[in-house]
Amino acid sequence: MPELRQNFFSKEWVIIATERAKRPEELATHRPVQPLPSFVETCPFCPGNESKTPPEVLRAPDNPAEPWAVRVIPNKFAALSSEVQPTRNLQHLRRRIDGFGFHEVIIDSPDHARCMALLPDEHVASILRVYRERYNALSLDRRVTHITIFKNHGADAGASLQHPHSQLIATPVIPSQVRHRLHEALRHYDDVGECMFCHMVEREVEDEMRIVLKGERFVALEEFASPTPFATHIFPLRHMASFGDISDLEVADLAHVLRTLLAKIYVGLENPDLNFTVRSAPAEYTGARHFHWYVSVIPRLTRVAGFELGSGMFINTVLPESAAEFLRKVAVDRGVAANAGQ
Ligand SMILES: [Zn+2]
Ligand SMILES: [Zn+2]
Repeated sequence: MPELRQNFFSKEWVIIATERAKRPEELATHRPVQPLPSFVETCPFCPGNESKTPPEVLRAPDNPAEPWAVRVIPNKFAALSSEVQPTRNLQHLRRRIDGFGFHEVIIDSPDHARCMALLPDEHVASILRVYRERYNALSLDRRVTHITIFKNHGADAGASLQHPHSQLIATPVIPSQVRHRLHEALRHYDDVGECMFCHMVEREVEDEMRIVLKGERFVALEEFASPTPFATHIFPLRHMASFGDISDLEVADLAHVLRTLLAKIYVGLENPDLNFTVRSAPAEYTGARHFHWYVSVIPRLTRVAGFELGSGMFINTVLPESAAEFLRKVAVDRGVAANAGQ
């Protein structure tokens, strides 16, 4: 029987269409493996082409005499500009703000061919430390109210350049979807006196059936009302509202859990296009007891169609419990991942 499940933080309903249920492996891309070269002379993100990008904001390690492992640059085709002020303008019902914001690109590594699933855990930890440094630096700007860190992997996920990279956009407004979730979380906190995310994570760890993998400090799980197949969330086990508060020990564990999850998706679903995003409370909610940040990994295996656009509801054809079981069974270790090629 089909079933409607309610997403616990967005409160949106999802149709789990078991009638048209697909076995998880049916969603694998079956794309031919096309090995990428490690270096492309014309790629602006490859080493030696640093002058083809805008001047860098940050590099790790920060000694300019050493070769870089991770680099941050302003986006050459930025969606928002830090050169203007976020001046608000209201005319009748038309509300406008001058396009202030920051749009940065984080180049994951000098290697053109290695997506994050194929990098060593220690390198993923360096990328996460760079995310944290930029997140905390931009949070200090009083004009910034929300920061989204995200990755587009593959053309269907919106990547326009092949060289593996992530992005960060800091906006002068809180997106209404984020505000809605903050309100739902606050309502739960006021009603019950607890963080609803902490409660959910505790229950899920106990129930086990939707857990993909668990580290010492983070857990990756399929949502009970997952809107799309294999949408996987990684939650810190310690309560934290802001990604900016992640400790060095937590960075190391998140790097392991995130990289392992990406490798399982890469191997099990044959390198599908995907997005991931760090969903953190806006700067002024740092320390809030009602919100809990997390990483959301969304493989792009199905297309959003008319029903989703018209209703905001999703139809998911893979049971979250089957997706979790499938990913749990995909064997990856560093050797397998590093030799898999692109
Ligand atoms: Zn490149
Ligand atoms: Zn919590």
